[in-house]
Amino acid sequence: NSSLHELDPDVAAAVDAELHRQQSTLEMIASENFAPVAVMEAQGSVLTNKYAEGYPGRRYYGGCEHVDVVEQIAIDRIKALFGAEAANVQPHSGAQANAAAMFALIKPGDTILGLNLAHGGHLTHGMKINFSGKLYNVVPYHVDEKSNLVDMEEVERLAKEHRPKLIVAGWSAYPRQLDFAEFRRIADEVGAYLMVDMAHFAGLVAAGLHPSPVPHAHVVTTTTHKTLGGPRGGVILSTQELAKKINSAVFPGQQGGPLEHVIAAKAVSFKVAASDDFKERQQRTLDGARILAERLIQPDVTEVGVSVLSGGTDVHLVLVDLRNSELDGQQAEDRLHEVGITVNRNAIPNDPRPPMVTSGLRIGTPALATRGFQAEDFREVADIIAQALKPAYDAEALKARVTALADKFPLYPSL
Ligand code: PLP
Repeated sequence: NSSLHELDPDVAAAVDAELHRQQSTLEMIASENFAPVAVMEAQGSVLTNKYAEGYPGRRYYGGCEHVDVVEQIAIDRIKALFGAEAANVQPHSGAQANAAAMFALIKPGDTILGLNLAHGGHLTHGMKINFSGKLYNVVPYHVDEKSNLVDMEEVERLAKEHRPKLIVAGWSAYPRQLDFAEFRRIADEVGAYLMVDMAHFAGLVAAGLHPSPVPHAHVVTTTTHKTLGGPRGGVILSTQELAKKINSAVFPGQQGGPLEHVIAAKAVSFKVAASDDFKERQQRTLDGARILAERLIQPDVTEVGVSVLSGGTDVHLVLVDLRNSELDGQQAEDRLHEVGITVNRNAIPNDPRPPMVTSGLRIGTPALATRGFQAEDFREVADIIAQALKPAYDAEALKARVTALADKFPLYPSL
């Protein structure tokens, strides 16, 4: 019964160092967030010890009376949060949620339409060496070269030409909203299922600040750790009609025992996501991203070749376009890292630079909004980023400004 520090000082030291990194730098990776202490408490609970193959009330193990309660709370809460008919809260991750949803709806060899990875799609939407690319016949759609918006005419043309069994709508790097009704119209026209992967924008949907895909899609998948702000994990929402197929695709189709400690943490995060505070936080997330986009397209920044894809954002992230900049994605990521801001380089559509270098940066605001950042703080961050991307920049001075912001919003003070 030793503590982590007593039993394993090596791992404990790395965990402590990671806590310090999160506290002392500005986290702007668009897919990250800070889970509340109560969520981490649930995730670190004794529920980690319990096997519970099956579903609440129908388990293959004894002693499931308490985890049944937890899992049912999680299911009920997320159904209410998104107005969904059915929910499966067992997927261990977003990728596993997508794998199970596809497993439920289509067969190996079937054709799927998904947004090309280099145009903002996710690995699980049909990347060649991902399970999705190996099992299914993938026809990728793209963003329009000029507008950088998903080309719905192409989606319709490809759907009519290839008659997919499944159309996947959703993204990992896209600064605008998708037209779910139009996706459904096209899917209906060719007899395809529509699956929306809302992993990135689920928190915005929960807060009512982004259109919901739930009324339009047959199946909606999400992660729980991005804008939604919970533990790492996945969820599948569906119509009642598809619920049985989805459940059996998750277990026994894809997974064994569910992670009931993570499901408990999901339940807690869904309670948080239904609160007014959460809505206010998502509003600051959106405002922060807009402030960032506006600053990065100012003439004194664009002069050095920096612009923002699609000219702005409607969501929690900005895609910086460095195609005309001397700085490539790797160098820009390194510079921001040097001043204490964590982002990731990201390929942009028709990127002239190689995938390990790229000509883009994906910068997100969810974690800083969770930390408490207000509009004025996002203006300061935007200015620090703009300064850091210029040919001459004072790393020490910018780092001091980052530290001042980090100190203004203490993270996990009780840990
Ligand atoms: N779907 C989308 C759109 C994502 O962006 C991601 C992760 O970045 C995933 C699914 C996969 O989630 P996970 O990393 O939990 O497998």
